[in-house]
Amino acid sequence: MKITIVGAGISGLLSAYYLLQNDFDVEIFEKSDRPGGLIQTLDTPYGPMDYAASSLINSKDLQDLFEQIGLEYAHKGPLAGVKNFYRNGMRRWPLGFVESARLIIGAVGIFLKKNKGLKEGQTVREWGEKVLGKAGYTYVLETFLQGVYAGNCSDMSAPLVLGPMFERKKPKQKPQVRGSVMPVGGMGKLIQKLAHYLEEKGVRINYNRQVAARDFVAGEQVVIATSAGAAGKLLTQMGIPAGPALSEIDMLDLAGVHLVFGDGETLFEGFGCLFPVSEGFNSLGVLAGKNAFPNEYSYPVERWIMGGSHSPHMLQLSDDELIELALADREKLVGRAQHPIKKYVLRRQKSLPHYTLELEKILNDMVLPPNLHLIGNYMGGIGLSAINRACQLLPDEILKN
Ligand SMILES: Cc1cc2nc3c(=O)[nH]c(=O)nc-3n(C[C@H](O)[C@H](O)[C@H](O)COP(=O)(O)OP(=O)(O)OC[C@H]3O[C@@H](n4cnc5c(N)ncnc54)[C@H](O)[C@@H]3O)c2cc1C
Repeated sequence: MKITIVGAGISGLLSAYYLLQNDFDVEIFEKSDRPGGLIQTLDTPYGPMDYAASSLINSKDLQDLFEQIGLEYAHKGPLAGVKNFYRNGMRRWPLGFVESARLIIGAVGIFLKKNKGLKEGQTVREWGEKVLGKAGYTYVLETFLQGVYAGNCSDMSAPLVLGPMFERKKPKQKPQVRGSVMPVGGMGKLIQKLAHYLEEKGVRINYNRQVAARDFVAGEQVVIATSAGAAGKLLTQMGIPAGPALSEIDMLDLAGVHLVFGDGETLFEGFGCLFPVSEGFNSLGVLAGKNAFPNEYSYPVERWIMGGSHSPHMLQLSDDELIELALADREKLVGRAQHPIKKYVLRRQKSLPHYTLELEKILNDMVLPPNLHLIGNYMGGIGLSAINRACQLLPDEILKN
């Protein structure tokens, strides 16, 4: 069966990969001149610097995919699993004894409740404060979700964000390397190798081809694997009622300020640190690449993530201004000023969908014709592992219709 995929970002490429495995005849149309969409890696003398995803949560299926396309995992250092939270200083765990007990009681209670206590139209904040307690919500849930979704938990939909996390079944097989992984050479290598593998196996990837609804052949199976906005525009052209609202969904700006420090400068222990909104940082969090993947970086490199819903105008600042803000955060975190030997600012405007109650309503009410399928980071999971799981289900979804 012939399938047309719109978009050669990771969603389009992974969709093509699983469809190919199920013997579909796949053709991809991509409006830009390269694959990867948001994902792109800048190769620098200090190591790979990513514009968007820089690591992903591993699974047995991803391990198989890496093997198939000839991609190696970067070696993980002993600090790769260490993630920190900030609360009057950096800590492995931000809650005191009573607060932790409150969170544990709430967390255990979740599993006894119907729908895990999630209600339509409920914000993450409403759910979190009620179930986990004020401190558990503020210093754990909100902080963690801000680091992943970059959204405002007072606006974000609890069923949309948390529902898929609770519904996820434990995979039968575990990968050899657990947790966050990165390909040798950065995420750009995953894109490069995957696109090359697909083309070798007969998938046609047409670049510089912006698709409009009039290009679709009546009745053909189409997978739209674009951002929410681009998908909304296509749905609007097709006369699907959800289109206009989806094309207007709030999209968040993000930037990574990558700071390279001289050899021997000790940074902090661990893969990264997340900052609660209430602690007044300019950044959402920081990742220390060399601590997690020591062989990939010749010098200590930190990536300070900025932007998101709490700082909607931050990307209007110049590179120098963003660097100043990152350095101020850094001084607050490590307690002293240090001077980077090199700085890179990598921006992604309007890159992440804000998982608001409005998006929840659009997705709940959306009715699509049976030959149309949507895959992307606005469909219930922003990260690559969630996108990968959705792509795996595509062949069955298409065969069902
Ligand atoms: C700063 C940042 C850090 C992140 N960090 C992580 C991380 O560490 N781990 C993680 O798992 N995730 C992370 N993410 C999220 C992840 O990178 C994205 O969710 C994912 O890359 C989205 O991929 P996509 O293919 O769905 O969309 P996109 O990358 O937006 O790709 C869509 C493609 O469709 C094309 N297109 C659009 N309209 C048309 C059209 N009409 N015709 C043809 N082509 C079209 C576009 O040109 C584009 O190439 C991060 C994101 C950002 C911004």
